[in-house]
Amino acid sequence: MATVAELLLHSKNLQSVSDSAMLDVELLLCFCLEKRRSFLRAWPEAEVSTEHERHFLTLLERRIVGEPIAYITGERGFWSLDLQVNASTLIPRPETELLVEKTLELMSDAASADILDLGTGSGAIALALASEKSGWCIVASDVQPNAVALAESNKAKYSLNNVTVLESNWFDAIGNQCFDVIVSNPPYIDPQDNHLEEGDVSFEPRSALVAENHGLADLEHIADCAGAYLKDRGWLLLEHGYNQADAVQALLLRAGFTKIFTAVDLSGWGRLTGGQFIAGVDNDE
Ligand code: GLN
Repeated sequence: MATVAELLLHSKNLQSVSDSAMLDVELLLCFCLEKRRSFLRAWPEAEVSTEHERHFLTLLERRIVGEPIAYITGERGFWSLDLQVNASTLIPRPETELLVEKTLELMSDAASADILDLGTGSGAIALALASEKSGWCIVASDVQPNAVALAESNKAKYSLNNVTVLESNWFDAIGNQCFDVIVSNPPYIDPQDNHLEEGDVSFEPRSALVAENHGLADLEHIADCAGAYLKDRGWLLLEHGYNQADAVQALLLRAGFTKIFTAVDLSGWGRLTGGQFIAGVDNDE
């Protein structure tokens, strides 16, 4: 039987596909053994059963052809949650936690609030907010039935009953409810962007990544429609690409938002742009 240390040597087979080869093999082995990474460190000489080894090698093959770790293990940590993920949605990204942080910051005094998460995917943003604020009512929508099912399943995993998941093409099925905050991480990558063919992104659904008009089409649609679904002084917060802050600021300005700001992610890129909606002010006047 192979030991833990011997199996971790397979990281060398991943070096050409992954810049986190050792972490990847550790995560795959932990997944097969149902152990934490500390176990691998503490017990490098532990013997791994043939069955576990075979399972590990099958998963390693999938990683060698580029499949993201999150799709192989079916899970990804986001905020304080371990979310189920699958190939029907985007893998939640650390930078998207910025939307959660900003929403909590803007609404820090609110014991109750109505929040809408458009294009929720796995449910990441909505469920993170719901886990922090049990008094908030959160609507999470997605146009893809598979995403709706996944978000429902993640909601059930954490019993976050203050979230309602529904199938909707952006605002189409939202009805006449108005919200204190609308958040969204819509598709915003330019269809011509070369990085769509590289790494994990190439396994993710195009519909969750790509938007026309240099990636701005969905951001623009949301900015234009959001006012009709916001309460007076409600906020719209949008994630966008590292080079889209100026364009998104212009979209919010044109749509009549005030107090427009951009927040930077941990890499220093403007990643989120937001603005406040004042009801009754018509920007066209
Ligand atoms: N941030 C993601 C990326 O650059 C894209 C997410 C999105 O389009 N909403 O890979």
